[in-house]
Amino acid sequence: MLKGQTLVFDADDTLWENNVLFERVIEGFLDWVSGPEDRTRTRVLLDEIEARNAVTLGYGAGMFRQSLRECLEALNGRTPTNAENARVEDLLTPLTNRRIELIEGVEETLLALSADHELLLLTKGNLEEQRRKVDASRIAHHFRGIHIVPEKNVDTYRQLSAGLGLEAERMWMIGNSPKSDILPALRAGLKTVYIPHEHTWVLEHDEFRPEEATLVLRTFAELLDHF
Ligand SMILES: [Mg+2]
Repeated sequence: MLKGQTLVFDADDTLWENNVLFERVIEGFLDWVSGPEDRTRTRVLLDEIEARNAVTLGYGAGMFRQSLRECLEALNGRTPTNAENARVEDLLTPLTNRRIELIEGVEETLLALSADHELLLLTKGNLEEQRRKVDASRIAHHFRGIHIVPEKNVDTYRQLSAGLGLEAERMWMIGNSPKSDILPALRAGLKTVYIPHEHTWVLEHDEFRPEEATLVLRTFAELLDHF
């Protein structure tokens, strides 16, 4: 059992449900705009629009709203009407006005881990939106620091460890995303805990073998078997 480690937690789909809420909105959108035969094609189109918009707009509900409108415009060959935009807003309600649904075991596990380790939160996305989710989660008090960044890459992890004066060898990145959490953290010299989530966003998939992570767990509570 390790003591005195710095445990850095991803938030979306590691501490709380996130992508499943987007998936529900997409299902509602596809029900509205697509027949059964072109559902897959519309989904591919939306994924492409999102990937492009993420580069300029970052991640979160704002980029997602813009992507739904552009997808609608591409499908109809004209600008969406006010009524159509209002319908997009209706679909987005669970994302913009919502409660945080913590993943099972998170609260008790963080409490136990905080006795022997230093906990940090590192999440990417829109600053205001992530801040609101952190506040609504009611678990912010477990973390020594909360870091909201536009993107998680190797430099993000290097800057985090250097900025806090921490040795990368005692730092663990814990998350559900190979692309954002595991691979760049490993390249920066951190150890990693991969906790897959069945609803991980398609844009977060990357070439990855789970055994590349230092540890692979099935549930969040299993952290207590190792730390
Ligand atoms: Mg995540």
